[in-house]
Amino acid sequence: MIVFDLVCICGFAFEGWFQDRQDFQNQQSRSFLECPVCGSNEIRKILSPVRFRSKGKDQDSLPQQKCTDPVSREDAEKALAIIQKFVAENFENVGTDLAKESLKIHYGISEPRNIRGVTTESEEKKLREEGINLIKIPMLTKSEEVN
Ligand SMILES: [Zn+2]
Repeated sequence: MIVFDLVCICGFAFEGWFQDRQDFQNQQSRSFLECPVCGSNEIRKILSPVRFRSKGKDQDSLPQQKCTDPVSREDAEKALAIIQKFVAENFENVGTDLAKESLKIHYGISEPRNIRGVTTESEEKKLREEGINLIKIPMLTKSEEVN
């Protein structure tokens, strides 16, 4: 058996086991190779030392290459969900009054506090001019809270 380090066009790196070099080439040319992440057939061999697996003592003598997997959409959504939960629990929802309330807090009219909501582009521009910076986070799902 022969082991190749393979990489997909999506950036996912994985191992492929083949009988020999010819076997790899056959599978590649027939698009038998498939990325386990995105399902693409555009798999390339990474130019790295070829590892031969045998029962011999040199089985693990070559350093293992650690490949960093790209962040999956699922993981990104999980991270976003955590941020959204944090914001929902720690920020008062002022809805469309966000710009107004931000200015009030900025000028000491309202009590300083964490607020969230929505703004129009022109409101955003005005806030920037006043030196107020907003942090925008993408919303994955349309929540009734931000309407
Ligand atoms: Zn892929």
